[in-house]
Amino acid sequence: MGGDPDPGPSAAEATLRAARGALRRDLGSPLWEAALQDAVAQRGWWLSQWPEGAPHVLGLVAQDVQEAVHQLDPLWPRCPEPSCPERLRHALFVEPDLGPDPFWTCHRTGLPVAPVGSLSGTGGSAPGTAAPQ
Ligand SMILES: [Zn+2]
Repeated sequence: MGGDPDPGPSAAEATLRAARGALRRDLGSPLWEAALQDAVAQRGWWLSQWPEGAPHVLGLVAQDVQEAVHQLDPLWPRCPEPSCPERLRHALFVEPDLGPDPFWTCHRTGLPVAPVGSLSGTGGSAPGTAAPQ
């Protein structure tokens, strides 16, 4: 384990597990567990078709999960950016749509707010608690 670059089932599994853990932190509620599992399962299939897509999985799962959450809560995740004129009144979006190192971004100010997986440290009550498992 560790920095093994060999692409295989275990590498894909690690990618999916990391994405699931990151979104679980951002969601901060077991309410969305089913949507999260569904998104991860779909991207697991996608990754099996395109192993080179691994760096994109986190951002794609984040967008899939957001789409599911928006059916009930169209403002998730609420923008916590202090300089935003519509702070807490609009949802952040993932940028880039396809690429590594996705960020939750405020489209009103154009500012990146937090890396996907670290959202809970920006507006929540437990800053800096993200730790590798
Ligand atoms: Zn904003």
